[in-house]
Amino acid sequence: MSSTQDAPEPWTAEVETWLAANWDPDITVRAWWDRLATSGWGQPTWPTTWFGRGLDIGVHASVRAAFDSAGALGPPVSIGQLLGVPTLLAHGTAAQQHLFIPRLARGEEMWCQLFSEPDSGSDLASARTRAVRDGDEWIIDGQKVWVSGARWSNRGLLLARTDADVPKHAGLTFFVIDLDQPGVEIRPLHQMNGESGFSEVFLTRARVPQDQAVGSLNGGWTVALTTLLYERSVIPWGVNPEGTDDLLDRRAGDIVLSQRIGEASDSRADPLSIVLDSFSRSDRRSDPVARQAVAQTYVHGEIARWLGGRAVGGSLRKLHRSALGALAAGTAMDLIAPEGTLTHDADHLVGRVQKLTLSVPSLSIKGGTDEIQRNIVGERVLGLPREPQIGRDLPFRELEVGIQRPAGAVSDRNQH
Ligand SMILES: Cc1cc2nc3c(=O)[nH]c(=O)nc-3n(C[C@H](O)[C@H](O)[C@H](O)COP(=O)(O)OP(=O)(O)OC[C@H]3O[C@@H](n4cnc5c(N)ncnc54)[C@H](O)[C@@H]3O)c2cc1C
Repeated sequence: MSSTQDAPEPWTAEVETWLAANWDPDITVRAWWDRLATSGWGQPTWPTTWFGRGLDIGVHASVRAAFDSAGALGPPVSIGQLLGVPTLLAHGTAAQQHLFIPRLARGEEMWCQLFSEPDSGSDLASARTRAVRDGDEWIIDGQKVWVSGARWSNRGLLLARTDADVPKHAGLTFFVIDLDQPGVEIRPLHQMNGESGFSEVFLTRARVPQDQAVGSLNGGWTVALTTLLYERSVIPWGVNPEGTDDLLDRRAGDIVLSQRIGEASDSRADPLSIVLDSFSRSDRRSDPVARQAVAQTYVHGEIARWLGGRAVGGSLRKLHRSALGALAAGTAMDLIAPEGTLTHDADHLVGRVQKLTLSVPSLSIKGGTDEIQRNIVGERVLGLPREPQIGRDLPFRELEVGIQRPAGAVSDRNQH
């Protein structure tokens, strides 16, 4: 855990020294990510036996700061690195770990998460996408939705129904599916913030080899719970190939530069920095109301930083991140007033405020909604009674078709 006194951790000097000796903007992204993988500094929370340093989640803020001050390119990041590797480490076979983890460590592959469906988001265990065994393969039919990064992904973590005659949680299997095949159609969705980061994915007789099933047959819910646990806890940081062709063969220094320029309109930009920039630019720097709002946002930004250094409390951290996003967007918008409706200006600040404002609603939905996180906190932290689990023991086939939830059924995304 990070020290609340901000005393440097012992390894901070180590990562700084390593970056000073190894960061080279003139090598390719491929060569740089290979160096990062070998050093363990690209994924410091992974085990030392798997391209990591075995450090806890609290390292992220300081490692990122070291990369920023060295001007170095961050590690590869996608669902594969964030959620796929921890899931494979917990449930994958040795063969699956040896096949996939090195490729993800070096950024040779990017993955996405094919969990949500039109009728199964919070109620994830009611997924209807079907997997039917065919010799050494599975044939997959169904539809997934809101799949972040699908367009840039080589593979996806897939939850599919392999037995409809047992209760919904007991008939799911977890797969790693190759997306580059004829049975997979990816249709980008246009978002209100102007981006098209996620897609609908249609699976029509898509194929998955049996050796890409993770965990046991019909044991997919247990595997998915590991993925969901990490989804609440991880702090995404690094480089995803979004829109960058031939990323691995580009000069590493050029990608750092294009990221800096891209930050101006990136919906993932740091909300606190946007508020502070808006305040510096505002003519309300002496206004006590504005000062108080900025101070309040700053305090919440610091709380977010400290929560980010804790290895536990994923739901609390996620709830706080979504509250901070909303607070920051409101404060920044108030500071720059009508300009906040514009998409950009000469120094890009105005566009960042607009992008932030149109992006924050997603924070309270993705990775399990705020309501679901509150349920988890209520039941597991405060010990409140569990929600009624109507339909939980009925065979999936007997659940109400279409909605897949009998009246009164509750969400079970993220529930144990
Ligand atoms: C930006 C973004 C990226 C995403 N990326 C991915 C991705 O990569 N892969 C993926 O699989 N999915 C992804 N999702 C989908 C996301 O996980 C779901 O949208 C989310 O889990 C909610 O499910 P839903 O949309 O079906 O809403 P529903 O589950 O239908 O919920 C509707 C409303 O009802 C509330 N509600 C539901 N159940 C309960 C309950 N038991 N108690 C109280 N309130 C409840 C919800 O909080 C919500 O307000 C993404 C979503 C967003 C916004």
